[in-house]
Amino acid sequence: MSDPSTLTRTPPIAKADSETEAGNYFVSNYPPFSFWKPDQVHRVHEVLEGPAPVDTPLGVYFHIPFCRKRCHFCYFRVYTDKNANEIRAYVNAGMKELAHYAAQPYLVGRKAHFVYFGGGTPSYLSVPQLKELTDRMKDLISWEGAEEVAFEAEPGTLNETKLTGIREVGVTRLSLGVENFDDHILESNGRAHRSGEIDKAYNFARGLGFEHINIDLIAGMMNETEENWRRCVAKAIEMGPDAVTIYQMEVPYNTTIYKNMQAEGKVTAPVASWPQKRDWVSYAFDEFQKAGYTVTSAYTVVKDPERIKFVYRDALWEGADLVSAGVASFGHLGGVHYQNQADIGPYVEALDRGEMPIFRAYETNEEERFIREFVLKLKLGHFQPSYYKEKFGQDVLTRFAPELAALQREGFLEITGPDEVTLTRAGLLQSDRLCHEFFLPQHRQYARYT
Ligand code: SF4
Repeated sequence: MSDPSTLTRTPPIAKADSETEAGNYFVSNYPPFSFWKPDQVHRVHEVLEGPAPVDTPLGVYFHIPFCRKRCHFCYFRVYTDKNANEIRAYVNAGMKELAHYAAQPYLVGRKAHFVYFGGGTPSYLSVPQLKELTDRMKDLISWEGAEEVAFEAEPGTLNETKLTGIREVGVTRLSLGVENFDDHILESNGRAHRSGEIDKAYNFARGLGFEHINIDLIAGMMNETEENWRRCVAKAIEMGPDAVTIYQMEVPYNTTIYKNMQAEGKVTAPVASWPQKRDWVSYAFDEFQKAGYTVTSAYTVVKDPERIKFVYRDALWEGADLVSAGVASFGHLGGVHYQNQADIGPYVEALDRGEMPIFRAYETNEEERFIREFVLKLKLGHFQPSYYKEKFGQDVLTRFAPELAALQREGFLEITGPDEVTLTRAGLLQSDRLCHEFFLPQHRQYARYT
C-alpha cells in the first residue's frame, strides 16, 4: 500500500548504480522519522489547546492495519488474523482518538478538506464496518465539501457489493494495489490477489463512476522480467485508469525478503538493480506518454492533469494539517509531526486508559518546513524559485547554488526558464536519492556534493 506509516530505523540511502540492498529508498517526510522523539509529544497537545488557524487546510487520515496476507516486501505493521470483534474494538479505539481531536480548540468546528483511508488494506473492512466507521468519522469531523476522499484497495477484497459500499460512503479516489499482472510474480512476492481479480475489480469500479481510479504498479519485484514488465505496462494502458503510480521496489529491513536475505547471509536483495528499475519506470513513462498520459511526478502518470489531482499529496507537501488516527499512523498539526504507537495492543490500551496513543513527535521550525516542502516537491520534477521566495523568503538558487550546479553538471537538472528549474528524466527517477542533498546538515546521513 502506498502510504508509509510504520516505525523505521535510520536507513542507508540507495546508491545510484548498484544492486538493491536492504533499506528505505522512498522519502516520505522531513525531518526523517528517526529524529522524532517521545519527549516532544507534549508539543502536539500544546498545539491542540491553541486557536485554530485561519487558512490551513485540514486532512483526516485513518489507518486500517488489516490485510488478507502479508506481502514479502511489506514493512508496515499489518495483522492478518483479526476477527470481526477485534476489528470492531480497533474501530472503536480509532473513533475515541478522533473524538478527542475533534473536541480540541485547534480543530473544533473545522471541516476536512481531504480524507484518506490507508493501510494495511482499508478494503478489508466489510460494507457494514465501513459504513459505521465513516458515519462516526463524519459526525466527528465533517467531510462535507471535501475535495478528495481517497481509499486504498486490494483487488482481491473487492466485489460489486463492496465497491458500491465504498462509493456510497463518499470515496472519490480509489487506488487499486495492482502491483503486477502476472500471477507467478504476484504469488512469489506474497500478494494475496491474482490477475483475474484485478480485471473484475477495475471493471466494477469503472461502472460505479469513481472520479479518480489510480492503479499502483511496482517496478522490479522478485522474478520480474523485461518481457513481463512490458506486458504489464501495455495492460495498464489498455485498462485506461485515470492515474498510475509506479514505485521502484525497495526492500526495507523488517520485510520477509530481508529476513530471508539475513538467513542466507546475503547483502543483495533478490530484486532488480536500481538502474534496471529506473529503466523500467522510464520505459513505462514513455509508453504512457505515447498513450496521452502526462508524467506528473517521479512516480505518477495522469491521463487528464486538469481534472485529476492528488489533493492529499499536494496539500500535505504544502504544509496542511493532518489529523491522523489509527495504529502507527502519522500526522502533522500546527507544524508538529507526530506518530502513533506502532502496535495495536499498546495503541488500544492507551485509548482505553483515556490517553492519546502518540508515541513520538517533532516540532519543526520555519527553516525545516521550508526544506521539507522543497525536498518533497522536488519529486514533482520541477520548481519555481519565486514560489519559495514568496512563501518562505528563501532564494533557493543562491542558497542551494552548489547543490543545483552539481546536479546540473551530472545531467539531473536543467534551468528551463527564468523562473523554472526542471529535473531531467534521469534526475526525476532518482529524486528520492537526490533530495538528500538539500537536507540540513544535522539530518544528513549521506551527501555527495557539499
Ligand atoms: S497489502 Fe501487502 S504491502 Fe499492502 S499493507 Fe498489506 S501486506 Fe503490506
